[in-house]
Amino acid sequence: MSDTYKPRRLYQVWRGSNKFFCGGRLIFGPDVASLFLSIFLIAGPSLAFCIKVYWRIHHDALHFSNWYPILALGVGLALLDLMFLLLTSGGDPGIVPRNLTPPETDEMLDSNTPSMEWVSGRTPHLRLPRTKDVVVNGHIVKVKYCDTCLLYRPLRASHCSICNNCVQKFDHHCPWVGQCIGIRNYRFFFMFISTSTILCMYVLVMSCVIISIDADKYGTAWRALEHDFISDFLIVYCFISVWFVGGLTCFHSYLICTNQTTYENFRYRYDKKDNPFSKGVLANIEEAFFTRLPPSQNHFRSFVPDMDTGFAGSATPNIGGDLAAPKEKIDIEMGVKGGEESSYSLPEILRNLDYDGLEDGIKFGDVDGKTAFDFLFSDDEGKGSVRQSVAESDTKSVRQSTAGSESDAAPRNMNASRRASSSPRAPSSADQ
Ligand SMILES: [Zn+2]
Ligand SMILES: [Zn+2]
Repeated sequence: MSDTYKPRRLYQVWRGSNKFFCGGRLIFGPDVASLFLSIFLIAGPSLAFCIKVYWRIHHDALHFSNWYPILALGVGLALLDLMFLLLTSGGDPGIVPRNLTPPETDEMLDSNTPSMEWVSGRTPHLRLPRTKDVVVNGHIVKVKYCDTCLLYRPLRASHCSICNNCVQKFDHHCPWVGQCIGIRNYRFFFMFISTSTILCMYVLVMSCVIISIDADKYGTAWRALEHDFISDFLIVYCFISVWFVGGLTCFHSYLICTNQTTYENFRYRYDKKDNPFSKGVLANIEEAFFTRLPPSQNHFRSFVPDMDTGFAGSATPNIGGDLAAPKEKIDIEMGVKGGEESSYSLPEILRNLDYDGLEDGIKFGDVDGKTAFDFLFSDDEGKGSVRQSVAESDTKSVRQSTAGSESDAAPRNMNASRRASSSPRAPSSADQ
């Protein structure tokens, strides 16, 4: 192993479905090809418009000699639009680094919910509650456990099945920009669609003005239309497009004012019930545009120490993370792309796991007459009831308030031993 060891960067062993360019400096979704279509659909008509105006300035000085500012504004809007498109598309949308191992015992103890569904079907050796309750401004919000990323999703995060990552404040996966829209690129996305709307309206209006000027020249507007196919095309194209991008801009303006994501709007219908994240229109707008963007949690160009563990996706590679250092890579979320490296079915993966490192933490027990092991819970695990409170939806400052009895100390000791053998892990769902 050491003979063939060659340091590799995180993006080279990334387990999501993303595509990287420029040595990991740019990250896109797997459908990045559609970005080029979007660029073409914006740049093509914009270029046609600008060339047309430029040509008119030079060949019809009588009517268009003072159109330089109109040309400059057209060029500026088109460049701005493309810039926002690339800013949306080429950066980390807010990917939550995967865990190398399932959440630690502390987290488990803190997450007992009164009615638990257990994550066990696909991970029979684990017993994790499927959801965890988090209180946000007096509302209970459930956060789900992600089987692929091995973590409780941060508040408002969701797993993008196209990119195969959990994304913070997941809005949607946009096929036009070929990227997830999440906490780190939402404002660029909004600026992109609103600039596109303005650009469409600008080209539409200016093309109509050109036709109206020509109408004086040719006698009727119809004859002017017959003589200017580029303007005809631009009028039709922009008229159709403006409904799409304008509608989208209106919709997202509404979402921003009410502090919803597209995902939440479709899934939870916060417009029909109280939205725990809304702070009032002005504060919601401020949150969307005037707060500091959280830094990326993934350093795609950082070196990952040993790729034989087969795991990637964490910004802080688990140097000592040999607790469950499997020979095979595990991807346990079914029906999700990204398990490309391994076509093993789960039972096969579990058979191939090297459990030697688990011994310290494994607690053997008898479940339904069969011997089973459970290194996450003690026998009286379910007695505690712990709920997390979030003030003002400030996800960084999760206060934990306990109610009910704590479980015994055995899992904590075990947890300490696990922690001793593991490096800093990805931030837990609770502190996002
Ligand atoms: Zn996930
Ligand atoms: Zn995505």
